[in-house]
Amino acid sequence: MLITDSLLLDYKRCSRRAFLNMYGDSTQQDPERDFLQKLRQENKRHTALVLETFYPHYQQSHVSGLSWREKAKVTEQLMQQGVDCIYKGILWVDDTAQSSYDSEEFPSIFPLGYEYLGKPHLLIKQPGESKFGNWSYYPVSIHLGRKAKPEYKLLATFYAQLLAIIQQTAPPTPELIVRPLKHSSVDVIQWLPKLQLVLDECVTMLGAVQEPEVFISRQRCNLCRWYSYCYGIAQSQQHLSLVPGVTPSRYQSLQDIGVHTTESLATANLNAIEEQIGTKLAQRLQQQARSLVHNQPILHAQSQYNPSETLSNQTIELYFDIEAEPERNLDYLLGVVVFNRLTHTQTFYPF
Ligand code: SF4
Repeated sequence: MLITDSLLLDYKRCSRRAFLNMYGDSTQQDPERDFLQKLRQENKRHTALVLETFYPHYQQSHVSGLSWREKAKVTEQLMQQGVDCIYKGILWVDDTAQSSYDSEEFPSIFPLGYEYLGKPHLLIKQPGESKFGNWSYYPVSIHLGRKAKPEYKLLATFYAQLLAIIQQTAPPTPELIVRPLKHSSVDVIQWLPKLQLVLDECVTMLGAVQEPEVFISRQRCNLCRWYSYCYGIAQSQQHLSLVPGVTPSRYQSLQDIGVHTTESLATANLNAIEEQIGTKLAQRLQQQARSLVHNQPILHAQSQYNPSETLSNQTIELYFDIEAEPERNLDYLLGVVVFNRLTHTQTFYPF
């Protein structure tokens, strides 16, 4: 089995996604959303800017028409030659039969019996002994986000461990570059045990071929191509994660008192839920569940909001509509609906 950086990233975000990407029926996937293509283009632009600003003399390791194993050999040849900056290198370790490198000083944390593949954006030469000579390499990862997120650090540590095995050194200190051109280092000593834990869990789950439970989370599932498939399963199970506000920890608390479905949340004894998660939250979640089960909006009992008073009732009304990804600080779909009460028409103007 091949454990790649993108598989690990998927696993870190949602173990089910990693499972479905490996074993799922790809015909069940949603078509890729335009927004993902836009993100990819932005990513390319950002990477080009980083290269131009900091590494204008990079050497590309990409050779088209080769298998990834052959490409990994090309990368290693460039490292052997001592090229200063390698772009699009491929790091590959084959631990299927036995550990490729396991010194007492720096034991490998990779579970045995797998191949490992990573594609760091850059490999930068630095002084220091390695099997190549008196130089070695450290990985640089470029990300579109504005913060050095934990999953970026985890992947960077994965590259460091691959490099340690390939060049036979201690894991080097990886670097991250996020927007706007912000550098930071990753503390591998702190992150290696976390990587080991994630790797162990991931290979155990994949090896057991056990499909993880569905859990719909707006933030996590938003851009996932298994969304319709998972949502259908969640609906058929009346899964509690369909209720807005049910987080994994609240889900566990509800399970503990025997509330397993949206239906049972809608009809459960409110006192029991209040004791478990607090009064306000219990009332809110139960109302949400009732609204879902009966497929009807419910006005909050104590709501100050009166739609007939608050909403405008003019001859011409303009409603501004925004689709945004607040996490990425991006408002990407803007438009106005013009509602004309005289002609009884509604016209949408996308910007
Ligand atoms: S839709 Fe959500 S639950 Fe399903 S695989 Fe994707 S991220 Fe995971």
